[in-house]
Amino acid sequence: MNNIPFFNYPDLFAQHREELTDVFQKVAECGAFIMQNDLVQFEQRLSEYTGIKYVLGVANATDAMQLLLKAGGVGVGDEVIFCTHTMVATASAIKFTGATPVPVDAGVDHLMDVVSVERAITPKTKAIMPTQLNGRVADMDSILTIADKYGLQVYEDSAQALGAKYKGRSAGSFGLGGCISFYPAKVLGCFGDGGAILTNDVGIYNTVKLMRDHGRGEDGNVSIWGYNSRLDNLQAAILNYFFDDYEKIIGRRREIATLYYNGINGIDGVILPPTVNSDIDHFDIFQNYEVEVPNRDELKEYLSNKGVGTLIQWGGKAVHEFKDLGFTQSMPFTENIMRISLLLPLNMSITDDEVDYVCQCIRGFYND
Ligand SMILES: *Cc1c(COP(=O)(O)O)cnc(C)c1O
Repeated sequence: MNNIPFFNYPDLFAQHREELTDVFQKVAECGAFIMQNDLVQFEQRLSEYTGIKYVLGVANATDAMQLLLKAGGVGVGDEVIFCTHTMVATASAIKFTGATPVPVDAGVDHLMDVVSVERAITPKTKAIMPTQLNGRVADMDSILTIADKYGLQVYEDSAQALGAKYKGRSAGSFGLGGCISFYPAKVLGCFGDGGAILTNDVGIYNTVKLMRDHGRGEDGNVSIWGYNSRLDNLQAAILNYFFDDYEKIIGRRREIATLYYNGINGIDGVILPPTVNSDIDHFDIFQNYEVEVPNRDELKEYLSNKGVGTLIQWGGKAVHEFKDLGFTQSMPFTENIMRISLLLPLNMSITDDEVDYVCQCIRGFYND
């Protein structure tokens, strides 16, 4: 019986046991836990890698978004437009600034639908916040054009998109700021929660720098109300270790995406993500391999019986479908995506043969 889990955290540790043990030991021996050198180094490396001027580690990407929005002046009375094909965290970050999260539909690319954005603008709209989902950047030219036309701010939920590019520019660089998540399942994951903000705006940078640490400046003075939202130095040290191989990690993910494409394209009714070379504007990092499939739930069950783990992102519900949160909109396009999408296993443990086996199983299910 094959066993191909969707994630394989124990195997990830097993692959790096000695090196990681060294990392843990060094940090513990120095007692360097909060706001120490590994964090500073990691922030500098992310900045160099993305070409974005300022990077600040924070507790998680949800905090990163909330701090960004607050630093940018988003608050009570404002509306922020987001794409409902995302994690609820995008909306909750908006909500906890005091602003109203306004959902819009996704387009055929599963990313923010630009036409819907323009329709959702009201006099209260303050910002647009696309999600760079599955490691692919949305149509930022159109989003920036609309933002410009109506005088709106732009923020990015780029939690899934470290290193993804659009027309040569990194996710997180398009508006006032973006976030990255280091949740263990992310392409660059730590051993717990972690996140960062990315911004080219010095004002946002200065404010978030204070806000993440109780509002305290380097002189010890507290000049604004702050939070405790720091990225642990131990997590930063782990991230520095994995980041050494980040190009390789992305390369491997793109390779797996290509294997999946070659293995299952052409099945009737199955729609696959764009290939790695599908267009010159995008460089995708494949946080997920999200396929649209007929009889999704039956396929999931079938694969599970064959030892293949898959995941329905966010339990198969778009954000606006959580009616207890007060949403009243209906968005048939996104709702349909959520009903038919499935994430196939894509991680640093899966082998080419295993990907091949997953593809064979899928073909088997559809008698293809
Ligand atoms: C993971 C994720 C988040 C939340 O990140 P945390 O670090 O867990 O707060 C937000 N948005 C998207 C699109 C994500 O995938």
